[in-house]
Amino acid sequence: MHYEAVIGMEVHAQIITESKMFCACSADYASAPPNTHVCPVCLAMPGVLPVVNQAAVEATLRTGLALHCEIPRFSKFDRKNYPYPDLPKGYQISQYDLPFCINGWLEIETDGQTKRIGIRRVHLEEDTAKLIHQSGSSLIDFNRAGVPLMEIVSEADIRSAEEAWRYLVKLRTILRYLGVNSGNMEEGALRCEANVSVRPVGSTEFGTKVEIKNLNSFRAVRQSIAYEIQRQSRLLEEGNRVQQVTMGWDEDCGCTVFQRSKEEAEDYRYFPEPDLPPMHLTPEWVQQLDERLPELPDAKQERFTADYGLRAEDAALLVEDQAIANYFEQAVRAADKSVSPRTIANWLTGEIFSLLREHGTDIGQIKIKPEQLAELLALVSGNTINATVAKDVLVEMFETGESAPSIVQRKGLTLISDEEQLRQIVREVLAANAKAVEDFQSGKEAALRFLIGQVMRATRGKANVAVAEDLLRQALGQR
Ligand code: ADP
Ligand code: MG
Ligand code: ZN
Repeated sequence: MHYEAVIGMEVHAQIITESKMFCACSADYASAPPNTHVCPVCLAMPGVLPVVNQAAVEATLRTGLALHCEIPRFSKFDRKNYPYPDLPKGYQISQYDLPFCINGWLEIETDGQTKRIGIRRVHLEEDTAKLIHQSGSSLIDFNRAGVPLMEIVSEADIRSAEEAWRYLVKLRTILRYLGVNSGNMEEGALRCEANVSVRPVGSTEFGTKVEIKNLNSFRAVRQSIAYEIQRQSRLLEEGNRVQQVTMGWDEDCGCTVFQRSKEEAEDYRYFPEPDLPPMHLTPEWVQQLDERLPELPDAKQERFTADYGLRAEDAALLVEDQAIANYFEQAVRAADKSVSPRTIANWLTGEIFSLLREHGTDIGQIKIKPEQLAELLALVSGNTINATVAKDVLVEMFETGESAPSIVQRKGLTLISDEEQLRQIVREVLAANAKAVEDFQSGKEAALRFLIGQVMRATRGKANVAVAEDLLRQALGQR
């Protein structure tokens, strides 16, 4: 029998704000010594009262709007009760039945098709403290306690590990465009759980799901889901049943491992948070937030294909990172007419991406200004240098930040277009390659490529190819 996977994602995203969710402590704790960003509120001293961080609410609403959610007029916070050392109050302030945002969607590309993945809800809560287990004891750092945290829950519309991965990439891109989350999974600013079940192809009911936790990289998301789909399919094939459990991902063995069963699942005894007033969201406020959303990746991609004639795949690559998209547009604006946006896109996604990858750096750090890339490509389109030389020049620009014209002049890389000079070289090449000449004259067009290659070699790559080809054809024709 063939099985199909059904997957729903739960993503936690730390919101970038100045202060924590319910107190005035700084939320920017990444490099702070432990327990320095704390106050009576986030340490849960008796008698303290929370105050809602408006910026965190706005970030949540903007995220919901970007994900095409409905924003109900009325919302509230609830207490989620559970006893655990990372939670000083004994409960987390979260949202239960009335989240800020519901019923949205985002789109992913899969097999050349656009697929819509439903967003069930986006709600706002507070992060927990951090436990550090070492040599038999456990330490606790409250800097993270009370940092604003969004939870984004998808519908179970995802059908493969690949789609789950694309969903997460798209979601992260949107969060970054909005500036509400850093997207950093390794540091735990973006955390993900995958709910996975399988069912016979053709069946309309969902199978029993397994929740996978501790997914702290894109690779882990993809691998763990693929593993879990296989494991569950095999269980069903062998006539067994899938147990509803929570599993963890073990990076080292590359397998999911049992954490707890459904029976051990906790009863959180949710109830409305009595220390916070219910929230009335005015349509005017929501509309204002909506109008101030930035251009989002899908819209940008469409504009790039329509306005600049880019292929959809190239546009998709460029818009995945807002900084790259901006870099591209700055280069396009700076470039003269002889350099097409498509050429700029090719060099950016080809040569520059591979240089960035090779040096483990990103576009924010690059020494080549967009205007300088445009300038380099104008030298190619104007036949001052050829593409091969330009690639070497680009590497040097990448390392030093020197401009292309300056490198070309300093190293004497200008193309040889002078016909007299090239004619002499052509004569020598023909004399030294009688076999290729014969081949060409008996109709083998490929021999001409070889001869052009020889001219390039003789000029150390600096011959103007078009001129060289003309001269070769002329000389061969006269024989
Ligand atoms: P829970 O109460 O166990 O957290 P929810 O119904 O709230 O479960 O759903 C959590 C996530 O799991 C959502 O993303 C949802 O789409 C997904 N989900 C629900 N049922 C299934 C299923 N049978 N298979 C895969 N994913 C599922
Ligand atoms: Mg869950
Ligand atoms: Zn505090």
